[in-house]
Amino acid sequence: MTAPYLGNPKRTIEVLQKYEFVFQKKFGQNFLIDTHVLDKIINAADITKDDFVLEIGPGIGTMTQYLACAAREVYAVEIDKALIPILEDTLSDYSNVTVLNEDILKVDIRKLAEEHNQGKPIKVVANLPYYITTPIIMGLFEGHVPIESITVMVQKEVADRMQVGPGTKDYGALSLAVQYYAEPYIVANVPPNCFMPRPKVGSAVIRLTRHKEAPVKTVDEKLMFRLIRASFNQRRKTLANSLKNSPELSFTKEEIQDAIAACGFKEGVRGEALTLADFAALTDEFKK
Ligand code: SAM
Repeated sequence: MTAPYLGNPKRTIEVLQKYEFVFQKKFGQNFLIDTHVLDKIINAADITKDDFVLEIGPGIGTMTQYLACAAREVYAVEIDKALIPILEDTLSDYSNVTVLNEDILKVDIRKLAEEHNQGKPIKVVANLPYYITTPIIMGLFEGHVPIESITVMVQKEVADRMQVGPGTKDYGALSLAVQYYAEPYIVANVPPNCFMPRPKVGSAVIRLTRHKEAPVKTVDEKLMFRLIRASFNQRRKTLANSLKNSPELSFTKEEIQDAIAACGFKEGVRGEALTLADFAALTDEFKK
């Protein structure tokens, strides 16, 4: 198998020019051109020759080449059909890679894991298109796809939001959702000059290692996430008012006040002060 050869500006420009590739802003196309960052991602993802890896958005195949060398099998899903002939060329030496021209949000990933990994948990690695980071990650978790870990490049601010706790401005529904399903760890911060073209924002590589068991228990996971979303939809309101105003919930004012009091929270408490365990307790109180 050929060693990866695309991860620098010169090679990337050569490929783009050969195919007269035009960047599509709507697909969040910022290609990696830094071998150190690529090495860091592959190391953090902890890939072995036993692994089946799903790559979301291979671009011209830069990271795919690294993944192909490290993994048993790589499955890369790319939405932009203009990139498919390029990928056929840049990945022609890598017999363990399959490229699918599709929107990742439409792919049945559970079926992929069944067909290619005997239903065992898979590793996901990607330099994500930033416009759909949250739907992709939440889709992977909430769809109960067998996932071992997700190692991804995201906007720096989004990586921060995923790993903070209560009492910080970045804390919100995404922090709680990610931490319910996984252990987040920021691997590296990555400046704009590591990409072509340069994004306007800073980026970070984050690894989300799926919990074997959820860190809190609740009798109704779906209700807990409705409560979480409602609490952060109106950050400045009290928890009681946010829950009362939510179109997703239909509790009376009294039921809300009683549940908040039964959990031992202060009357004027805001959602942003509650931990994941607090939301689980509140959910169970509503279900009583
Ligand atoms: N992995 C490459 C790299 O690191 O150089 C490219 C990363 S670029 C940030 C994101 C890639 O995701 C682009 O190739 C883009 O076309 C692709 N993409 C965007 N939306 C997608 C979607 N819904 N499904 C699959 N791929 C998508």
